[in-house]
Amino acid sequence: MIDNFHSHTWRCRHASGTEEEYVQAAIQNGYRAFGFSDHTPWPGSVGSNARMDENQLEDYIDTVKNLRHKYTDKIRIHLGLEVEYFPDRMAWMLEIKEKYSIEYFIFGNHFPDLLPGSTYYGNCKTKQEIYEYLDLSIRGMESGLFSFIAHPDLYLKQYPVYDKACEDVARQLCKAAKSLNVPLEYNILGHRMIDNGSTVGVGYPYERFWSIAAEEGCSAVASVDAHQTQQIQEHDYNLRYFNKLRAYGMQLKTLDEQCKVIDYVK
Ligand SMILES: [Zn+2]
Ligand SMILES: [Zn+2]
Repeated sequence: MIDNFHSHTWRCRHASGTEEEYVQAAIQNGYRAFGFSDHTPWPGSVGSNARMDENQLEDYIDTVKNLRHKYTDKIRIHLGLEVEYFPDRMAWMLEIKEKYSIEYFIFGNHFPDLLPGSTYYGNCKTKQEIYEYLDLSIRGMESGLFSFIAHPDLYLKQYPVYDKACEDVARQLCKAAKSLNVPLEYNILGHRMIDNGSTVGVGYPYERFWSIAAEEGCSAVASVDAHQTQQIQEHDYNLRYFNKLRAYGMQLKTLDEQCKVIDYVK
């Protein structure tokens, strides 16, 4: 792996390590580019353990921009956010993108809304929930706001068994991603959660999902989805799963200096 565009910071309250530690780990492991994409704040949401507060956004942006400057000779550092798709709130998201020169958004379809107790899509247990996930995933991809869709098979994380509905959701999601030209993210953090036993359910990345993605001609991005600096340091682990993705034979993608999606060339 020569880059990673999915990384978090301590601000989201479920990640750790300083931004500079992530950057140093990336340099040590030969990365050419490293993107921060912490969980975006939303106006009015305070104290969530899923995201930073709105009043932390400026510090996040300043920190990443300062590191970009400091390490400019060693690595390309990019400023992004991981963002849900809440149709009535996207105008605000575009405003802050413009205001702070945020370079890219990745689509983390975690929740349908910000209401307390709403479904976490990594905890789907019913067909209805996974079809809701599919519907919102497609609408988000249609918005054209996102460089790629993070963990597209998140709906399988805690789903009890892979059934016909899972297969249908996979097929429809992959067909939409292909026709909308949105790369699917192969999420190595998902493998970590399977390997350390913290996934109860089918889990992701799920082989059958990725076979379908390959059949449909989808493109893919590999990400560490780093929540701890150690996850960048474990380079052999990341490479093992990066190579597993490569074996599906899909067109791999990355982001260029302007954070435009381009073909991955080693
Ligand atoms: Zn997270
Ligand atoms: Zn993430």
